[in-house]
Amino acid sequence: MISENSNGTTVSAQAIEDVRRGFMLVLAAPSGAGKGTIAAKLMEEDANLALSVSATTRQRRAAEEHGVHYFFHEADEFERKIKANELLEWAKVHDNYYGTPRESVDASLNEGKDVLFDIDIAGVRQLQKQAGEDVVSIFVLPPSIAEMHARLKGRGDDDDTAIKRRMKTAIDEVSGWQEFDYIIVNDDLNKAVTTVQSIITAERLKRLRLAKLTGKMDGMIADLKAVIAE
Ligand code: 5GP
Repeated sequence: MISENSNGTTVSAQAIEDVRRGFMLVLAAPSGAGKGTIAAKLMEEDANLALSVSATTRQRRAAEEHGVHYFFHEADEFERKIKANELLEWAKVHDNYYGTPRESVDASLNEGKDVLFDIDIAGVRQLQKQAGEDVVSIFVLPPSIAEMHARLKGRGDDDDTAIKRRMKTAIDEVSGWQEFDYIIVNDDLNKAVTTVQSIITAERLKRLRLAKLTGKMDGMIADLKAVIAE
C-alpha cells in the first residue's frame, strides 16, 4: 500500500489518457451489416473520437451533406488528389473512387484523438501497411446474409442491380475476415456499440501507445528504490 504521506511520483488514469498516442480505428463490414449506425453511435458517445470524413466521386444520397458524410468530388478532382498524395489511402468501390484525406487525420491524431474510419477492405490493407500497430481493425458481421440483404432492400438507396453488386463485393470483404484484429456480430445494435467501446477502452491502455509514460514509470521505480533504502 502506498503511504498517504508519500510525496513521490503519482499517476492517474487521466494522466495516462493525456500522454497516450492516438490510434486509427477501422470499422469494416459488408454493406448492410450496420456499421454506419454503429459508427454514428460511437461518435455521439465519445468526445475523444474524431470521424475521418472520406472523399468520394459517388452521387450524394438525399440525406447526405457535403463535408459531413463525405466530401463529394468529380473524378478529375479526385485524381488530382491521388497524384498530389493528399490521400492516406484510396480505392475504387462499385465504380466510384473513395479515399481518406491525409491532412484531417493527421490533425486529429496530433490533437490526441483517436480517428474512426469507415472504409473498405482495400483501404484497410493500405492503412495497415502504412501505420501498423496504430491501426485497430474491427470487422462487423451481419447476423446472416438474408438479414443483410433485407437491410439493403429496406434502406431503399439502391436498385436491385446495385444491391446485387454490393452483395458481390461482400464476397471479397467477408473472405478477408482473417485480416482483422476483432470480429463482432451486429445482431443487437446497442450490444455491438458497447462491444466496440470495450475494445476502444482496452486499446487506449495498450503499452505500445504509452511511450510517453517512461518518465512516470522511472519515477515510480526511483520511489521503490527510495523505500527500500529507508
Ligand atoms: P457507401 O457508398 O455505401 O457510402 O460506401 C461504399 C463503400 O466504400 C463502403 O464499404 C465504405 O466503407 C467504403 N468507403 C467509404 N469511404 C472510404 C474511403 O475513404 N476509403 C476506402 N478505401 N473505402 C471507403
